[in-house]
This record gives sequence, structure tokens and C-alpha cells, in this order.
Amino acid sequence: MERVYNFAAGPSMLPLEVLEEAQRDLINYKGSGMSVMEMSHRSKQYQAIFDETEATLRRIMNISDDYAVMFLQGGASLQFSMVPMNLMPKGATANYCETGIFAKKSAAEAKKWGNVITITSGKENNYTNIPELTDDIVTDDASYVHITQNNTIFGTTYHKTPDIKKCPLVADMSSVILGEEFDVNKYGIIYAGAQKNMGPAGMTLVIAKKELLGKAPEDTPSMLNYSLMADNGSMYNTPPCWAIYMAGLVYKWVEKSGGVKALENRNKEKSALLYDAIDSSKLFTAPATENCRSYMNVTFTLPTDELTAEFLDFVKDRNMTNLKGHRAVGGMRASIYNAMPIEGVNELVKAIKEFEAEK
Ligand SMILES: *Cc1c(COP(=O)(O)O)cnc(C)c1O
Repeated sequence: MERVYNFAAGPSMLPLEVLEEAQRDLINYKGSGMSVMEMSHRSKQYQAIFDETEATLRRIMNISDDYAVMFLQGGASLQFSMVPMNLMPKGATANYCETGIFAKKSAAEAKKWGNVITITSGKENNYTNIPELTDDIVTDDASYVHITQNNTIFGTTYHKTPDIKKCPLVADMSSVILGEEFDVNKYGIIYAGAQKNMGPAGMTLVIAKKELLGKAPEDTPSMLNYSLMADNGSMYNTPPCWAIYMAGLVYKWVEKSGGVKALENRNKEKSALLYDAIDSSKLFTAPATENCRSYMNVTFTLPTDELTAEFLDFVKDRNMTNLKGHRAVGGMRASIYNAMPIEGVNELVKAIKEFEAEK
């Protein structure tokens, strides 16, 4: 079977070049006589892969030495707990911005640890917009403010980093990391699961300002303690070796592709093609408010469930898959991360137009 245009939200498409390189080295990595999957994480050869992965990421995201980079496990969902456990004393307060389902989940975990004050909510508008976050609405007692930079399920995003001075800004960037350029210096913590825009599932990236580390209570489980993880170079125990290696290949691909800014421009172009097709249609609608529309996850709807089912069938015959919206919101969602070629987006635009013409 031919490779398909896979619009899945995650795990999602990887660059073909990356898959091919991994395939070439799968059984015998650069003459080592073994696969990366078989290597000791304490070996020189693996350490070199690890160091190069981190160095490449630091270059493409322009991460300074004031920040620690960690490659952990447990997914973005474990960060929902690790952030409060490491950044706020037990029972203290944190501010959360409720912009979607993952945002709510992150706040729910923080509530198990301390006080959560929801300072913005898009609930009234069914999460179709991103309420403005300014420093003056941050409470004085906040240990940090948490945002979901890109709301994977609703297709909304903060294109501009909120300017927060009162306390550190923490961002879940799972579905937008490397898809848009961010100034890391404006954040206290950035975290992201790898499986959307960085590689296969199994690795979670955490970029943490060093001055925030070392504040976890004594009884914090070792595996959940940022400073222990950072001090041990993410190798307190066996790291997700293969997923880190794959992310390293993706980082190099990003660099070769012109860097994050070049990819952001391509992503803008790709998403504009889709939003334009939807906005000029009388049948399809894009619910996300224009100024916060995601470049990564384009959500759109049809007037009835029947038409939605028909459209999803219609695209299947055209080498496109996983366009069904998240089970909680319905409709359609096209996740068009860095690895989705523009040809895939053009195919989808064509399908939208032809489907409408048939109606
Ligand atoms: C996918 C996603 C998550 C969940 O990630 P896991 O790695 O499955 O825990 C959390 N936040 C956002 C924004 C996501 O897109």
C-alpha cells in the first residue's frame, strides 16, 4: 500500500526522510553491530546520539544555558502532575487558563497538589477562542501560570506568548513545538509529548529554567523530581533511548529544512489554504475564532452528522485518513504538523471543493 496523507492528531506523520534513515540504520547503527534499540544507554555510542540530539534541539529552538533540557517518559499527561509537584509548595496556589480539554486535565492534576485559580476560560464560547491573558489578571500568590499553547482538540492557539512578569509561565506545547517559533526565554517551563511534532510516542521533552529547579519537596518521588532528572542528564534510569534517537533525526530534519521559522512559514501557508477553502464554502464551517486559529490542528464542521460521515467516507478513497474530529467535539480535524506535505493539504482542499460541488 502507498503511504497515505495521515491527518492524525498524534501519533502523527513523520518525515519520510527520517523514517528512511532510521530504516537504514535499524539493524546495524553506523557499524556498531547493533541497533540503537539494543544499545546500553550508558555506552559512549548512545551518549553521543543523546548529546547530539540535545545540541541540535538547543540550536533549532535557541535554548540558552539558563535552561535544562530533559527527555523524560510519561507523556505530556505526567507533566500535568510534575509541574505542580516541582513548582509550587504543597498547598500553594497556581493559575490556570482553561482553553480546552487538555487544559482542564492539567488543572485537575494540579488541584490534587494545591490551589488552582482558573484565571481565563473559553468555556462560554465552547473553547472556540483564546481569552486574553495579561499580567494584571495573574494573582499575586501564583507560583506559576499554566497555558496550553495550542489546543489540539479545538484547534485554537496563542500565536503570541503572553507577557507574564509576576511569576513563571508554564506551557504545554505538545502540538505546536517546532511548528512555530517561540522565545524560550519568556517561559519558565515548556513541555511537550514527542508524538505530535517530534517523533514517535514514548518521550516527553521538558525545557526548564534552571533557577526554578531544586524546589520539589523531600518526599517527591525520584522519578518525578525535575532536578534529579536534570542533574543526571535524563539518565537517572533508562531513558526512552529509541524515541530520543528518532527525535534527534527529526531535529536534524528541522534544521535542514531551514529551521523552525521556515517551517512556521510553511505551516502558515498550509493552514491558510485550508481555512480559505472552508471560509469560502457555504457548506463547511471553521468554528475557531480567526485570530487564534491553529496552524497545526484545523477543526471544521458540516451541518449534520450524516454529511460528516459522508465526507469522512469521501476522503477515504482519496488516500487521506484520520480526519475525524476528537470524540469529545465531533466534526472534522486536519492535523497538519511539520511532516504533512503541502500536497496533502492540497488534496484535502480539493476534496472539500469537490464534495461541496456534489451537494
Ligand atoms: C496530546 C496532548 C496531550 C497528551 O499527551 P500524552 O503524551 O498522551 O500524555 C497533552 N496536551 C496536549 C496539548 C496534547 O496535544
